[in-house]
Amino acid sequence: MRIIFIGPPGAGKGTQSGRLMRHLDGIHLSTGELLREEIRQGTPEGLEAKQYVDEAQLVPDDLVLGILQQHVLELAPVKVCLFDGFPRNLAQAERLAQMLEEIERPLSLVLELKVADEELARRLVGRQMEENRSDDTPEKIKKRMEIYRSQTLPLIDFYRDLGLLHEVDAIGTEDEVFARILECVGKVRPDLA
Ligand code: AMP
Repeated sequence: MRIIFIGPPGAGKGTQSGRLMRHLDGIHLSTGELLREEIRQGTPEGLEAKQYVDEAQLVPDDLVLGILQQHVLELAPVKVCLFDGFPRNLAQAERLAQMLEEIERPLSLVLELKVADEELARRLVGRQMEENRSDDTPEKIKKRMEIYRSQTLPLIDFYRDLGLLHEVDAIGTEDEVFARILECVGKVRPDLA
């Protein structure tokens, strides 16, 4: 099963996708985490990505895809793969479709985590106090939100047209949201599982 998590910053993608990965015993590919790891290690890719991540901009597609590509071969033998924070725009969605076609593993499900703006603002302030992310200042969060709206939201229609989109109400306790996610996973067509 190949599952994409889409949602604005603060919607709980990281938490819920990590939890689903453990539940389904799959692998979790978070491009944000992969990029932060490259930055921590000071690789050439990391150095290039850093300027974009710090400015809360999207890292150029080729750079993200190059890093992701190193992990794609891990996908073929595993049954379940969760994409968290990827794709972020239509070009990336098209490249992902090609990559999955090459390894003959179709996309199974796209989960859109939906949260009202006021709730997001509240959560992000909390996260800022817990984590030390250079892109979690109020101004950068605003920028990431704008990028989400302009570049990532068009993916919703793209995947809805493909019949893959499931909307998940991401307000409630972590357990409540997770239960809704499991319900969607249970509805995946057998030929796409
Ligand atoms: P995230 O952890 O998913 O919130 O990502 C943190 C930052 O990493 C984003 O604000 C972008 O700068 C960068 N990033 C993560 N995933 C992508 C992606 N798929 N395409 C471009 N930039 C990305």
